[in-house]
Amino acid sequence: MNDQIQEVDILDQLEVYCRSCGEEIRPDAKICPKCGVEQTRTALKNPGLAAVASFFFAGLGQIYNGEIGKGVLLMVVQVITV
Ligand SMILES: [Zn+2]
Repeated sequence: MNDQIQEVDILDQLEVYCRSCGEEIRPDAKICPKCGVEQTRTALKNPGLAAVASFFFAGLGQIYNGEIGKGVLLMVVQVITV
């Protein structure tokens, strides 16, 4: 029953808010167009989930290419570096 909620959370990652004024800005915006404050990745609404998602997708990319061992290794390496 939580499937729908999780799906919304993933979509929410596409929305980035200014760390200073809270204005919604483009995910790739380096500076808030409203207040001019420089943005960092911590401006992500859910940085933890984004990290987990990118961690899985990076390894899955390798597995889809048939390089399962390499994909798993990549996941392990990313766990260590995170
Ligand atoms: Zn701002």
